[in-house]
Amino acid sequence: MVWRKSTTNHFLLRPNENQNRIFEAMILPYDDNYFMKKALQEAEAAFEKKEVPIGAVIVVQERIIARAHNLTEQLNDVTAHAEMQAITSAANFLGGKYLKNCTLYVTLEPCQMCAGALYWSQLSKIVYAARDPQRGCGVLGTKLHPKTEIVGGILENEASNLLKRFFIQKRNLN
Ligand SMILES: [Zn+2]
Repeated sequence: MVWRKSTTNHFLLRPNENQNRIFEAMILPYDDNYFMKKALQEAEAAFEKKEVPIGAVIVVQERIIARAHNLTEQLNDVTAHAEMQAITSAANFLGGKYLKNCTLYVTLEPCQMCAGALYWSQLSKIVYAARDPQRGCGVLGTKLHPKTEIVGGILENEASNLLKRFFIQKRNLN
């Protein structure tokens, strides 16, 4: 039997997940924009399912431990906001109810319900994209945990454009 060396390098053609991560790290820093883009991908998944397009990820030490998007229509559940599901999923992953060293990235400013749940989770940081001037926790004065830092406006235009596109499409269909 004659072994012939392959001329193509299959490892280069099919990089595995780790190689992808290394490659991404070389071109993309793991900053707030990077993780908000991941939350936006979740929001787009919600859009595809005809759900209000809001997505969230929870990150600990530059690692995504939970991804979620709004599922209120599919689950027939007003509490199925992206943040609520991300909190449950992250706690399951960590095997503990508190998310003390975690950062939540969410494409819309959390509502009162989610801000309340985030309070109980003792999450260390919340980063949101678009502001919600009607139902956001900021305008309604909902209390966050004193140790929770909150930052807004990361990829705000991308997130609000997706929401606008959703509501225009919905109006046209009705
Ligand atoms: Zn909410």
